[in-house]
Amino acid sequence: MLILVLNSGSSSIKYKLFDAEERSEKLLDKGLVEKIGGRIPGHKEAISFILNKIGAKIEAVGHRVVHGGDRFSRSVLIDNDVIKAIEDFTELAPLHNPPSLLTINESRKILSNIPHVAVFDTAFYYDMPECAYMYAIPYKFYEKYKIRKYGFHGTSHRYMSGQAASLLKRPLNKLKLITCHLGNGCSITAVNKGKAIDTSMGFTPLEGLVMGTRSGDLDPAIIPYIMEKENIDANAVMEMLNKKSGLLGVSGLSNDMRELMKEKAGNKKVKLALDIFIYRIKKYIGSYTGVMSGCDAVIFTGGIGENHPGLIREICKGVIKKGVKTLVIPTDEELMIARDTYRIASN
Ligand code: ADP
Repeated sequence: MLILVLNSGSSSIKYKLFDAEERSEKLLDKGLVEKIGGRIPGHKEAISFILNKIGAKIEAVGHRVVHGGDRFSRSVLIDNDVIKAIEDFTELAPLHNPPSLLTINESRKILSNIPHVAVFDTAFYYDMPECAYMYAIPYKFYEKYKIRKYGFHGTSHRYMSGQAASLLKRPLNKLKLITCHLGNGCSITAVNKGKAIDTSMGFTPLEGLVMGTRSGDLDPAIIPYIMEKENIDANAVMEMLNKKSGLLGVSGLSNDMRELMKEKAGNKKVKLALDIFIYRIKKYIGSYTGVMSGCDAVIFTGGIGENHPGLIREICKGVIKKGVKTLVIPTDEELMIARDTYRIASN
């Protein structure tokens, strides 16, 4: 079955074309269409461009959707009801869900007679225990506004867990795993017997680990304090926490790990940024090992996880006990989306 996987951003669409069968997928083509809204007028034209370039008869389309709210526990066949639900969750993911919706709507018009499947970043976290996803604020805010931990990067964490079980030659439902996705965005998940039981990202992708430009965990009282001292509004503080913090904010130099690695010997702030980054990951690994009463393997992926063995060694030092395996597994969210799409479309 020829499956096209589309991963849409506001100004770009990443695609991969797979020839999929039961338990086997072959990558036939991949690419990135950029400058949507500029050189390419809109998502509709971008999809036509991709289909022209591929020139093959697509049999199903898999779409990455960031936010499935509290509704989607797994990937689903897209119909009008699913589209309405994704629209409803736009308020929770204002930057991410709208481009996915545009791509879904336009590609369903062009490829109207084949199944389209939505694969949600949040779905892996749907079954987390209530005590892990609820915040300790008045309960009415959960009831009124659905404020809870949703978790993100779920497709990548699900992929890592499955691959780790294959590599370890043990059934997933017998394993306690900690999966670390370290890219520009960073998140860490505790996977007990194949189920995510906790994860570092929260109501939004801002919570948790230190990231390229995001702060991760902090005392919320800092927000009104900075607003008052700097005479700025909540939007400006959120912009600072999302775009000017993390590795970039502390180092004052860059959000790019390659740059920081070059400078760390002679630059104190760069060294500090890396120390906080590493320390925070260690803390999460320790606490997830605690809540699972043990851990069989810690898995790393993403641009940082896959390319900085020295840093990974630093993270593991002291916190990962003897006998616990450390694995680096290049992530492939699109492959996971193709697998789900095959499973749903062939039924
Ligand atoms: P995104 O989360 O946007 O997909 P990546 O997974 O590519 O980003 O991660 C970006 C981070 O990984 C950056 O800090 C970058 O320096 C680092 N990185 C990516 N590729 C490499 C590489 N080949 N060698 C070293 N570092 C890399």
